[in-house]
Amino acid sequence: MSASIPHGIPTHWYNIAADLPVAPPPHLHPGTREPVTPEDLAGLFPSGLIAQEAATERYIEIPEPIRQAYATWRPAPLIRAREYERALGTPARIYVKYEGVSPVGSHKTNTAIAQAYYNAQDGVTKLTTETGAGQWGSALSFACAQFGIDLEVWQVAASYHSKPYRRYLIETYGGRVHPSPSPLTEVGRELLAADPDTPGSLGIAVSEAVEVAAADVNTRYALGSVLNHVVLHQTVIGQEAVEQLQTAGETGADAVFGCAGGGSNLAGLAFPFLREVLTAGAETKLFAVEPAACPSITRGEYRYDHGDLAGLTPLLKMHTLGQDFIPDPIHAGGLRYHGMAPLLSHTVELGHVQGLAIDQRDAFAAGVEFARAQGIVPAPEASHAIAAAAAYARELTEPEVIVIGLSGHGQLDLPAYHSYLSGDLDSTAPQD
Ligand SMILES: *Cc1c(COP(=O)(O)O)cnc(C)c1O
Repeated sequence: MSASIPHGIPTHWYNIAADLPVAPPPHLHPGTREPVTPEDLAGLFPSGLIAQEAATERYIEIPEPIRQAYATWRPAPLIRAREYERALGTPARIYVKYEGVSPVGSHKTNTAIAQAYYNAQDGVTKLTTETGAGQWGSALSFACAQFGIDLEVWQVAASYHSKPYRRYLIETYGGRVHPSPSPLTEVGRELLAADPDTPGSLGIAVSEAVEVAAADVNTRYALGSVLNHVVLHQTVIGQEAVEQLQTAGETGADAVFGCAGGGSNLAGLAFPFLREVLTAGAETKLFAVEPAACPSITRGEYRYDHGDLAGLTPLLKMHTLGQDFIPDPIHAGGLRYHGMAPLLSHTVELGHVQGLAIDQRDAFAAGVEFARAQGIVPAPEASHAIAAAAAYARELTEPEVIVIGLSGHGQLDLPAYHSYLSGDLDSTAPQD
């Protein structure tokens, strides 16, 4: 008998596309502007993920080896934040869905394991990727170690230099890391020639990783957010949370808050709640909380744009600040992306999810208050969701149920907390 998988880990990923009244717009080929075909994507992604990118079925079974890997940290806890409720003086019952229990401390492992698995299934021996603060890079490095795949990572230069610990984590699991832009790619060389001191951006790092993968038949590329298959993998978060709320004696949630960089953890948490809204008459408000420094939903346009600076990726219909937008180097590195997941953008357009922007100082203030109440130091990204939920909870006069996506812990972000506590942190909304 195979080792048993604990009860409470979902058996399927949930595909919101099956329940939406209007199908999400397809990705387009960057050259022809026609809908991308599986063949167009074959040089970049393995077949299992390409199929999921265009999937229309409601549930997709999670292969046993992935569920086995999930079982080392899932189901992730849903924690009633009673001390934080008291600190806020709110009548709300606040629950946090805590993804910081994964081996690398964030939700990224949920898709990293799945992506490494499907690449290994296709015999792929090497992956390339980008990373901001290093959360995605470390998650994929861990996953590649599980499935015997080599990994090369382009890390946004600002983070590479100022936040070395996750880089060390990537290296510990066996991945190789380059600061981006790097002299190793055409895109990188061009950008370095124009400005040797550029802080870099996720859009640039994606271009470098895609360029290298496209040039080698045995190498594929992996993206840590934004794409439909990534959002799909993250729905384990929300499916668990819906069930755990019931176990806690709640009939559902009134409001769900998650931080949104590329949109994957928020969508992964929110879409199973949205399923209840679309199919079972639930009345849950869903909030995507982004940084004021990189406000794709609240200040971007909804249009086709590239996922990277050089325009090598398919065109994605999404909320975007433009493929060449380089946000200020705020401490929530995981939120510094110019675009938003097409599936999430689509649900925003349909009116199911609302965007909110939070200044990073308000996020850190909330993160510190939360840490002092509950003990968990939130990732700066997640603190944006906490700040928005706190503002909502403080206004309530009647009890409501609030769920906050705590996408990761902030144990490797303590220098950023130190800056905040020393009064050195800037307010950073883009000027226009
Ligand atoms: C990467 C990251 C994010 C942002 O990515 P999404 O795709 O928007 O989830 C948020 N929180 C943490 C902890 C991250 O590592």
